Order: sequence, then structure tokens, then C-alpha cells
Amino acid sequence: MTQTKTHILGYPRIGEQRELKKATEAYWKGKLSLDELLATGKTLRQTNWKKQQAAGIDLIPVNDFSFYDQTLDMSCLLGNVPPRFQWKGGQTDVNTVFTVARGTQGGASPVAHEHGADCGCTGGKVSTYASEMTKWFDTNYHYIVPEFQSDTKFALSSSKVFDEFAEAKALGLNAKPVLIGPVTYLSLGKVQDAKNPDFDPFTLLGNLLDVYEQVISGLAAAGAEWIQLDEPVFSLDLNDTQRAALKTAYNRLSKVKGSARLLVTTYFGGVRDNLDAYLALPVQALHFDFVRGAEDIDAVLGKFPKDRILSVGIVEGRNIWKNNFDASLAVLEKARAAVGLDRLWVAPSCSLLHSPVTLRNEGALDEDLKSWLAFADEKLLEVGVLNALLNGLAPKGLLEANQAAAASRKASKRIHNEAVKSRLAAVSASDYERGSVFTVRQQKQAAKLSLPEFPTTTIGSFPQTAEVRAARAQWKKGTLSDADYDRFLKAETARCVAWQDEIGIDMPVHGEFERNDMVEYFGENLQGFAFTSNGWVQSYGSRYVKPPVIFGDVSRPKPMTTYWSEYAQTLTHRPMKGMLTGPVTILQWSFVRDDQPRSVTTHQIGLAIRDEVVDLEKVGIAAIQIDEPAIREGLPLRRSDWKDYLDWAVNAFRLSASGVKDDTQIHTHMCYAEFNDIIQAIADMDADVITIETSRSNMELLEAFVGFQYPNEIGPGVYDIHSPRVPTEEEMVRLMSKAEAVLPRRNLWVNPDCGLKTRGWEEVKPSLIHMVSAAKKLRAAK
Ligand code: GLN
Ligand code: ZN
Repeated sequence: MTQTKTHILGYPRIGEQRELKKATEAYWKGKLSLDELLATGKTLRQTNWKKQQAAGIDLIPVNDFSFYDQTLDMSCLLGNVPPRFQWKGGQTDVNTVFTVARGTQGGASPVAHEHGADCGCTGGKVSTYASEMTKWFDTNYHYIVPEFQSDTKFALSSSKVFDEFAEAKALGLNAKPVLIGPVTYLSLGKVQDAKNPDFDPFTLLGNLLDVYEQVISGLAAAGAEWIQLDEPVFSLDLNDTQRAALKTAYNRLSKVKGSARLLVTTYFGGVRDNLDAYLALPVQALHFDFVRGAEDIDAVLGKFPKDRILSVGIVEGRNIWKNNFDASLAVLEKARAAVGLDRLWVAPSCSLLHSPVTLRNEGALDEDLKSWLAFADEKLLEVGVLNALLNGLAPKGLLEANQAAAASRKASKRIHNEAVKSRLAAVSASDYERGSVFTVRQQKQAAKLSLPEFPTTTIGSFPQTAEVRAARAQWKKGTLSDADYDRFLKAETARCVAWQDEIGIDMPVHGEFERNDMVEYFGENLQGFAFTSNGWVQSYGSRYVKPPVIFGDVSRPKPMTTYWSEYAQTLTHRPMKGMLTGPVTILQWSFVRDDQPRSVTTHQIGLAIRDEVVDLEKVGIAAIQIDEPAIREGLPLRRSDWKDYLDWAVNAFRLSASGVKDDTQIHTHMCYAEFNDIIQAIADMDADVITIETSRSNMELLEAFVGFQYPNEIGPGVYDIHSPRVPTEEEMVRLMSKAEAVLPRRNLWVNPDCGLKTRGWEEVKPSLIHMVSAAKKLRAAK
């Protein structure tokens, strides 16, 4: 036994082989019973706990498991089910969770099950829409947004946390229940109240704390020694309401009777100016993310209160790199000197939810690369070993092995490509600039492209039908030859181009049939990327993603898209638009190396994309779209960090786009709400054309561009591709007329909101036919 303790904040629940996804989806389809689903959950929890126990983790989290989302579980625990679901109170259960997460369609419950007297579901009697989901801080995990009304009443309404605690206790584990803290819970929700749209959810705090008190005292009575309350809002800019709420909340919760002690955690960044508020919380232990919040270390250690336990988050919980023991030990030793061994806990920086489960099933990854990585299971071991090293109890050789892996990574020729480094070092200011300013380029492009007013185009992808996916799967398996796959893709592309020609799309695209995913496709064609077989991470509910790993300097050995664009251009006289993914989006949707700044990696990708842009121009492609849908989601958590990020993000884009002549038209595409706060950066990208998602907001999103007097060309989406609904010609004309009233007519394009990949041809065809005729109406109306 060491004097220090180890713990983790949470562990991935999806299973090594995505067991949770398989069971959940089978249950939704009616192919698995509720009992079978619950049994899968129980097995997964026990497997996960045993792994932690085997790794020597002292305090094991419970209630980090979820069938869908921990924030939604919290809402259910609090009895906060939106009124439109007509939930009658009592106990919520897993069916309540699925109903709120997925909505109910046409009066049918999303899950087939027996409705017991208090099963808590809506019984399939209402038809209503799901709660919204949004990104969990700056991760790619999405939580279900809590909804508040001015008359929301919270009441203890789930036994999940108690059941899971009892389950762990029965196994003899020292279990630590995990809850989302009250202030984070209120901060993450949104008001959904037609009568009182402006009410402040923090007015609900008092009643909310009543329930938290019940939960905490209940867990204490059940024997919980420690209870973890997650308050990652401490890594954000806090307002006065939040600060006051934190005081009120923890003053009350700390007085709850019972022997349980409270651990409050924050993660994903430094606490910075919130440090004093954090240290003032009257709780027994505080967790810090010393990986992303390394800037806090000295300030924290300098004034950490004598009567608290310090939990040091030192193993990065949301990336995949092996920990550097030397560097971590330096921090841990400093912490030991400041607070002593008996007040120190060793932990990952955040929940391991954001990391893939295990390296064990990565047989296809080469040993070199594998020796530089650590997924959740390996991170558990790292926490254990670091703790042992700190206490002088580690078996011989562990530190040395870690040092050897770090040295091999640092020196590896596979990671470090001198040609890439020196090329980036030689980049000069002019490489970020097009030849001429936009107004000059616009004239030259108009002369070259001779497009009509209100030119029509699409965002790139056309329906990825079952046949397209089946052909790709067969080709990957080796049952379809390269030649046959190529023939198949060419036929799909030709059909798609011919159809666009037939209906009169002014700037056609090739359809992206050769691409599985807009990041993976490029990663597979670039040097410096690796792909795992099982490196899944939960994105939301039963949807998991398998991000590429950027492990080395990025370069482009050969053209990636010219083959398809050049072929597509031979099929039509209209200008074919080339289609690329931008550097920031590629970075944002990958696991990124931690041995150099993200800005450097992004610029390397920018250079690789630049080469592709130039090559597309060489083969005769006159318009090239560089998609950057992820620029906004890369925004740092703190406002004061935005400028730095936007500067390098915009520069990386400009580097990728600026290698071409004036008369080559550069497009970009973004699809999300809220442009207001980044409109300057979007303008600085200086794309000749930007296409955006606006149809659902009824063109409200355009306001940012109008207020800013956005100078370049713009295609506000007129077709909501997230819905199977076919928009009419009239409504598209109406939307574009709204745009024309506020923006120069010569700058406007007509296009859908986003790619058509997820739609079926039977919806896409009439929708685009309507879109083309809408454009013709607009041209005719002078
Ligand atoms: N070109 C991509 C497509 O059409 C863009 C997708 C996106 O913006 N997410 O699929
Ligand atoms: Zn999009």
C-alpha cells in the first residue's frame, strides 16, 4: 500500500468490441430483450471495474457507465424529463433515457417493451422530438442538453447511481459514485419555455440542490466513502451568477449529513482566474487537469490548502500517447513536496471516456507505433506505475522502458521528416496571399467560368447508397478487384455528373463516391497518419468514431483527388468543382501528436492540401472547394485564447488555398450555426466563395455576414439536408430573395446546406430540380 492514492474520473463504457453499441441497437430493433440489454451493461461494468482493480486503481468510479449519456442520466436522476414527453413522474429508467435521446415517432415508442405500472417511459402515446445534443466542452463527445422551464421541479427519480454503487460494493470494490455537479448541470442546459423564454435557469438552484442533497446523503448511507462531483465549468470563463451558485451549492452540499467526503473535479483546461473560487470550495478533495492546465501547476501548489487532498490529473485522458514518466514524475514530485504523500492522489487528467479502450486488439498497428501509444487500459496501468514510482515501489525496469519508448519516438525517422520541417520553416508571408485582392480575382474568375447569375452548385457528396458502401466493403475485403472497384466508381461518378448536367447544375461535383469519410480519405492518402482497427470513441449514443492518428510530419506522397476530378471534368463542359478537406478540419477530427504545437501540425497539413490544390489547377479544375466545417468547434474554451487559435487556423487555410492563379476559384464550406463571433476570421480566410448552412434558420444566420458587409461570394444553403423533406421551388426562391435583399446579387450562389451523402436519390433528385428552377426564377426577376 502506498500513502498516495490512485483513482480515475471515468472509464469508456462502449466495450472492447463495441458491445454496448451492438446491444443497444439490437434492443432498439426489438431483437434483444430489456433484460438482455441490462445484462450486457452489467457485464461491461464488471469487466471495466476488474481491469481497474487489476491495474491497482484505489478508487473506482461508478455511474460513469451509461446506456446513452451521463448528462441525460443526470437529468433522469433529477426527474428533469421535458414536459412534451408527458412523463408522469415516479422512476425513470433506460427507456426514459432512450425516449428523450431519440424522440418518439408517429406515436410509437422507440423501443418495444412491456409497459409496467411504473416503467417510467411515455408508453408510446406521444409523438415528439428528441432533446437536442451538443458538444461536451471541446471534445467530440455530444451530450443531451438538459431543458429547463421556469416551473421545472426536480425530484429524485432514478435508482441508477445507487444500484451501480451497490453492485460494485457487492464485489468488494471501493467505489466512488460520479455525478455531474449542480453548477455544470445548470450551465450546460438551455431554457425551453415558450411562456418564459428569458428566465434564468439558476433560479432553479435551490430546488436542484434539494435533490443533490438526497442523492449525496443516500449514497453516504449506502456506504460511499467518496463522491465525485464533476464541475468542468471551472475551465471556462465564469460569470457572477455561476460563481455565486458555486458558493451556494457547495456550502449546502458540504453540510449534508453522513460520512461521505466530496471530491470536486475540473478538466479540459486550467482553472486560471477561477483558482481562488475553486480552492474556496468547502470540500475534501479537488482534482486538477495538470496536462491541459499545466499553466496552473505553480499557482495551485503555491497555495493549496493544508486540509485538502490534491488530485493531480497527469495522464492525458483524451489523447492516445504514452505518458512521459520523467515529465510526469517531475510534476508529481513537486506536488509531493507541496502537500505531502498522504494528501496526494494520482489520476488521469479527465474521464477516459474520450480515449479508445485498449491497444490489445490493435494487431494491425506496427510495434513501433504501438510502443508510443496508450489507450484507456494502458492509461490505467500508467496511473498505477506512476504512483508506484512516486512511492519508490515500482518494479525495476518500468521507468527505463518508458524512457526508451520516449527516446525512440523522439528520434524516429517515421515521425520526423526533415523535408517537411524545412519546407514549413521556409514558408514566407507571400505564401499566405493570393496573387490579387478579391475584387480583381472575381473579375478574372467571372471571365473564365462564365456562370449565370445565381449559379447553382452542391456541397460535394451525393447519396452514399447501400451499393456504394457494399462495393467499398468488398474492395476492402479483397473480394472486389481494384479494376472492378474503379469501374464501379467511374460508373457512379459518370451517372452523377450526367444527371447534374441534365438538370442544369451550373457547377457540378463528382459526387465523392470514392470516399468513406471526408477526413479518413485524406488521412489514408497522406504520410504521417495511422489508422487503428478498434480505436473507437463514443461520439453520441450508439454512434462511435474512429479518428485517424496523426503521428508524424505530414506530407503528400502523390496526388489524392486529381484522378477523380480530372475524370469527372471529361464528362461535362461545365466547370467541375474539385473537393478537398481543409487542414483545420483534418486536425480537429483526428488524434493529434502532442510533441509539437497543433498549429505546426495544421500548417503541415495545409502545405499538403496546397500541393493538391495546385495539382487540381494543373489538370484543368477551375474551382476548388476546401471544406472547413470544424473551424468553429476548434475554438478554445477561454475567450482570451480565441485570437491566437483563429490566427493560426485562418493562416493554415490560407496556406492551403493560396498557391493558385487569380482565375482559379477557391470555395470553402462550413455547416453550423453562429457565425457572429468568428465572422472576421471567416472573412480573413478570403475564400472566393463560401457556402454555409442557413435554410433551417430561415436565413437568420446570414445576419452576421450582412452586418459585417462580407465582401466575397456566398452561397446560403436553401435545402435542409438533415431532413428527408423535399423543399419546394417557392420556398427556395423566398429564402434567396431574403438573401438578395441584404447582399449584392452578383455575390450570391444557390446550393444546399451541406453534402447529400446521407440522403436518398429519391429525395435529392426532386430537391435539386426545384433548386435549379428556383435559380432560374431568381435570374428572371430583375
Ligand atoms: N464535401 C463534404 C460533403 O459534401 C462536406 C461535408 C461537411 O461539410 N461535413 O460531404
Ligand atoms: Zn457541411
